[in-house]
Amino acid sequence: MAKREHPFPFTAIVGQEDLKLGLILNVINPKIGGILAFGEKGTAKSTAVRAIAELLPEIPVVSGCRFRCNPNDTSLLCEECREKLERGEKLETEYVKMRVIDLPVSATEDRVVGSLDIEEAIQKGKKKFEPGVLAEANRGILYVDEVNLLDDHIVDLLLDSAAMGVNTVEREGISFTHPAQFILVGTMNPEEGELRPQLLDRFGLSVRIEGIKEAEKRVQIVKYRNAYEDDPKVFSESFAEQEKEMADRIENARAILKDVRVPDEILLTDARIAIGLGVDGHRGDLTLMKALKTFAAFENRSEVSLGDIEKVVHMVFLHRMKSLPFEQTKSFDMDKVRSIIHDN
Ligand SMILES: [Zn+2]
Repeated sequence: MAKREHPFPFTAIVGQEDLKLGLILNVINPKIGGILAFGEKGTAKSTAVRAIAELLPEIPVVSGCRFRCNPNDTSLLCEECREKLERGEKLETEYVKMRVIDLPVSATEDRVVGSLDIEEAIQKGKKKFEPGVLAEANRGILYVDEVNLLDDHIVDLLLDSAAMGVNTVEREGISFTHPAQFILVGTMNPEEGELRPQLLDRFGLSVRIEGIKEAEKRVQIVKYRNAYEDDPKVFSESFAEQEKEMADRIENARAILKDVRVPDEILLTDARIAIGLGVDGHRGDLTLMKALKTFAAFENRSEVSLGDIEKVVHMVFLHRMKSLPFEQTKSFDMDKVRSIIHDN
């Protein structure tokens, strides 16, 4: 596979610790349910998303498959790969980089889910499916800038598909199904419109993107940017070791994740925090458990500890607190969380 030209290295991104950690947790464990980044327009979010995709090892896909089916998981194949198998043909494997697909705000439903040519099906008895964005994003990252400006209906489709991992298009009794497993990354500037709480709740994590206020960090950013613009290749290569280390850490976390234990004491503390912050519903509690397990795996531990809660809890509950609109969520009460943790 030809390597893309040199994107900015993930490990060279200074600051935005929550965004970086949120992305790392999602690529280790996509069941966390994606990430929503609040903040003004800027390049930090898009840079980080592209950088993490570049950092990860190549994935095995079925050669020639438009949906990038996974040859090692035949329980989740597109109809075309399944038919191939049924005909007794072998699914050849090739390795490709994880993709980042951008969803434009103007995207129509057809563009998102794909379209089925019904004439062709009736006349020739053959299904002709034009893949949409959900197909392109399979096993990659779907990046939606200004997700709050999309139709609620489209956001619903994205969240459904992200949760189920498949996309089915149906027209006049004919249907086509393909895998659509992706990490949904949305951005929004709350000053330009909100998302309904029901939609917010279905994003796994959320982070706030803020301007960097420490002078030293800003100097570091300028230096790195300048070096990168001077020679992207040399700059990327100077981070090769850190990139490899991070990729190995993520791979290791993926491997040990299923064996990470969460003591009951932690679950009880989580529940108390949710009650203390006034978070309704159980989706938040469940996501917090997943995020904690994933964080422990990233730290190469087999058990979640009390200290892990402070690292991820704000990302899980920020967008789930009743006190929306957004202005109020700006004051995520970490002191309150700490007092609940240490009260036990
Ligand atoms: Zn396929």
